[in-house]
Amino acid sequence: MPARGGLWMLSRGHFSKINFRPTLITMEITKIPNKILAKKMEKVAVDDIKSGLYKGLISDMRTAMVENNGVGLAANQVGKDLRIFVVDKKLAEENNVPDAFINPEITEYSKESDEMEEGCLSVPDYWAQIKRAKKIKIKFIDENGTKQKIKAKGFLARVFQHETDHLNGLTIKERTAEVRLRTDLLSNK
Ligand SMILES: [Zn+2]
Repeated sequence: MPARGGLWMLSRGHFSKINFRPTLITMEITKIPNKILAKKMEKVAVDDIKSGLYKGLISDMRTAMVENNGVGLAANQVGKDLRIFVVDKKLAEENNVPDAFINPEITEYSKESDEMEEGCLSVPDYWAQIKRAKKIKIKFIDENGTKQKIKAKGFLARVFQHETDHLNGLTIKERTAEVRLRTDLLSNK
């Protein structure tokens, strides 16, 4: 998801230095209605993670995310049917979590939620208020092949939910439609 507006401004500072670099696009970002964005991504094998098979891809995804001013990027956003996402390095460091997530699954959502404007590199020129859980728990495998389970809250929890949505074939377009549908149902009562 790209950084922009409102609380998204918080993440903007991360990119101020990077933006002075010459831009070199190495991977093309898939855009809707590309079918890979509507598909649930396949889990990868732990042995392949341990053998370093995905190191190159993860590195290229980090580069593509930075080049496109994103705070997160899922593998299907670069056309790969793999259950992997990366998040902004500084955001990860601030929260003391890894920046690459393999086979992630959100295992718990808080009942408490909030709304924030989100954008997405795969959904150009579209911004919407998206309701998300304030806190989550996520299990995943790290780049070294180690299973981990962590808690996240606030902006980090939102990014994890946005990127996990991608790996489940959902974009902010579907999330917005869902909110609209709920609102319509309520107004019909
Ligand atoms: Zn996105």
